[in-house]
Amino acid sequence: MKKKIAVLPGDGIGKEVTRGAIEVLEAVAERYDHLFQFQYGEIGGSAIDKTGSPLPDETTEICRSSDAVLLGAVGGPAWDDQPSNLRPERGLLKIRKDLNLYANLRPISYYASLSEASPLRKEIIEEVDFVIVRELTGGLYFGKPSERTTYKGKEAVIDTLFYQKEEISRIIELAFQLARSRRKKVTSVDKANVLESSRLWRETAEEISAKYPDVELEHMLVDNAAMQLIRNPKQFDVVVTENMFGDILSDEASVLTGSLGMLPSASLSINGPNLYEPIHGSAPDIAGTNAANPIAMILSAASMLRLSFGLTEEAEAIERAVKDVLDSGFRTSDISKTGARTLTTTEMVAEIKAAILDQAAISDIMGAYA
Ligand code: NAD
Repeated sequence: MKKKIAVLPGDGIGKEVTRGAIEVLEAVAERYDHLFQFQYGEIGGSAIDKTGSPLPDETTEICRSSDAVLLGAVGGPAWDDQPSNLRPERGLLKIRKDLNLYANLRPISYYASLSEASPLRKEIIEEVDFVIVRELTGGLYFGKPSERTTYKGKEAVIDTLFYQKEEISRIIELAFQLARSRRKKVTSVDKANVLESSRLWRETAEEISAKYPDVELEHMLVDNAAMQLIRNPKQFDVVVTENMFGDILSDEASVLTGSLGMLPSASLSINGPNLYEPIHGSAPDIAGTNAANPIAMILSAASMLRLSFGLTEEAEAIERAVKDVLDSGFRTSDISKTGARTLTTTEMVAEIKAAILDQAAISDIMGAYA
């Protein structure tokens, strides 16, 4: 298979973990005889420094002409005092718009060997396995007006929560389809006791649910959902919610597995390439020290192979390699116990690549004796 992949490393540890994911993809390409062509683009703070824009048009073009996009992370203190149109995060919002990315999928899975890295008790987190489906195109992040103003002569501010019904139906439909391939339960999170937008959200969820009689639908208020994620996360299968609730809940959920450095995400496009990125940011506190955990980025690349290219076996090979490496006790510092020897980013990447090649060698031997 021949595929073009746009690679946007971004800033801070984004560059370090992206390099690791590319190495893993090259190992997969070699092992399974695929050709991945990587086309590099600038985004975020480094794009501002080089071009004056957090997302130059050229980067969008590179993405549009690719089969999928891999993104590291953007941001850092160097750009914190920039005006809002020149902040690295603007690049993220713009690329979501430019590529028509409407759904962000964040799987939260439990690794038995990492139970000690979680702040929660083992019995609460073991067997946790759910996906948060976050709407990406609407809500407070894009509604207009969004500005400083005055009211009755005094300083005031306004942000707008705007949704078209079509945007709500599209994301809820996706959640039901996903639930069908899993444990057949959708939890729709809203704030219907207060917000009109949430009442439309809830009505729409009910309408769509009628088409999926085999899937259970429950509604949960966002404040309760925030609590249930910590009290009893095993109850969830597919959680679907609007843009801002999804942003907050998915970061909260990320703590369950012990580190932001473990969690991949996929953003699906309406009509173009999908984008895959770790959920963490550019981690300025450890950037440049070769200490970042590359697993979230590597698992994002695995999702790309599965969802964009249909390469299930190759995606599973990466996921199995990650699990084997963790089961063997290898850790980066974010998931290591105090005092234990930890691996650098490059050492962790090397272990994961070696595990992929070991699997390949074993399967060759089995093939020879079959
Ligand atoms: P962050 O995710 O960058 O870091 C939070 C903490 O988690 C830090 O202590 C960091 O060292 C640690 N961490 C994160 N990823 C890690 C990894 N792979 N391995 C080991 N440790 C890891 O969040 P933040 O500190 O709030 O933000 C830093 C910058 O990143 C800000 O400029 C913010 O705007 C930006 N940001 C970008 C994205 C994105 O690009 N999608 C997402 C979140 C934050």
